[in-house]
Amino acid sequence: MTRTLWIDATFRTLDPDRPTAAALLTEDEHVLAAGDVAELRAHTTGITSTIGLGGATVTPGLVDAHIHTAGYARDLTTVDMRGCTTQREALAEIARFVAGLEPGRWLFGGRWDANDWPEGLPDRDILDRVCPDRPAILPSIDGHTHWVSSLALQQLSIDDHTPDPPGGTIERDAVGRATGILRESATLAGEHLMTLHSGDLTDQLRVAQQRLLAVGLTGVHCFDGEDARAAYETLRAAGELAIRVHKSVPLTALDQAIDEGRRTGDGDAWLSTGPVKVFSDGALGSHTCHMGEPFPGGGHGMEVMSVPDLVDVVVRATRAGLGVATHAIGDEANHRVLTAYAEARRLAGPPDVRHRVEHTQHLRPGDVARLAALDVVASMQPTHCTSDIRLVERLLAGRDLRSYAWASLLRAGALVALGSDAPVEEPDPMAGIQAAVTRQEPETGHPQGDSSRTRDSRSTRRCTGSPSPRPGRPVWRHPRGRCARERPPISWPGAETPGGCRPPSWVRCAP
Ligand SMILES: [Zn+2]
Repeated sequence: MTRTLWIDATFRTLDPDRPTAAALLTEDEHVLAAGDVAELRAHTTGITSTIGLGGATVTPGLVDAHIHTAGYARDLTTVDMRGCTTQREALAEIARFVAGLEPGRWLFGGRWDANDWPEGLPDRDILDRVCPDRPAILPSIDGHTHWVSSLALQQLSIDDHTPDPPGGTIERDAVGRATGILRESATLAGEHLMTLHSGDLTDQLRVAQQRLLAVGLTGVHCFDGEDARAAYETLRAAGELAIRVHKSVPLTALDQAIDEGRRTGDGDAWLSTGPVKVFSDGALGSHTCHMGEPFPGGGHGMEVMSVPDLVDVVVRATRAGLGVATHAIGDEANHRVLTAYAEARRLAGPPDVRHRVEHTQHLRPGDVARLAALDVVASMQPTHCTSDIRLVERLLAGRDLRSYAWASLLRAGALVALGSDAPVEEPDPMAGIQAAVTRQEPETGHPQGDSSRTRDSRSTRRCTGSPSPRPGRPVWRHPRGRCARERPPISWPGAETPGGCRPPSWVRCAP
């Protein structure tokens, strides 16, 4: 048992009665008390060590309530087209990357965003030119569209005559030839191939968790597949799990999870069962989110799962003690998901676990209070707001919507949990808090004078706790996870040590 007194810092407690403290007392991985140095010394025996933190600001460990840690981990070793502003630049980046890629390895990654590319959407022909000898599957920034090469189309058994799958699109040109752009459920087979051919996920997550600790995260709600769950179990068994993981159940594994008796919230502080992840629509950047009014270019986006199908899933999950987290971005999608949750509640009774809406991006005004009244968690990612500002201005101008409306949702009494959706965005929670507070592009300050802001401390609180899945329990449980965040960096023993790493449950920020 080690009792440590941490001093020479400002500890932000998030306790309104005592918002800051000058010292913190920990015992192993638990926080015992926060207060004045003299006060803590006077009332404590057995302090093993006293550590000065050089005037830093320290906050509780932060939890990312929506992240794809397997995708993030895999992206650390794949091509990155995030900074590419034209198709030309993207192709140059691919050519540079494949030049160093060992023979036989597939090409994955990208996170490209063609919304502002002057050449428009890419196709398989230009990809074949820079990557002719290996299959390439390149997800867009939001992951809802894949740009694939001809060799990958062959591996996916997709040709010009393959029909669109339900809830998905195989894009074709004027003469009906598949262009190499796949949308929504048409990307599922590619996701599977990426899982198969991406290398050892356990190794990749071992590296990724250190990156996440380094930006100040001590816990994650991971929305990737069963392979990620297995990898985390391996890390845990080896004593190498250094970040707390609330692991969702993909819809494809729902029956198995029910058979195995998995329930949301089961497990312990390090690895617990999360909600079942379901998709109701696509994404704004891919023009596939489900909107009430059509996009300027036509089309309402896509309904990936119908209301009756969603009701069926929610009822089955509810009866098995599993929460449901439904991806909904468009206003029509959010409206329908709330309708499905209300109907499931009528059929199966109030759930033991809170259901969630993932992203909750564009709401009709009446759905703000409706979401709160249904006791649903709004799981939101503030950096989507600041990344999408210009897209929203272009595509959704003049609509009567509450977009990225965490402040309105909080005022309505809804539970709001914040996350990053990494690797769609960077996982840095400080960027999320900045976006939540300012609602402005960090580089330009655009747009000026937005009125819908939240206070910094409220956003921080949303980032630090996990929403309790169980109604009636305290809404926010503060993680006891450990991590150190330092700007400028100073070494903090344990922060970079995977095995047995139990650094304190506080995150160290810039002085
Ligand atoms: Zn996501």
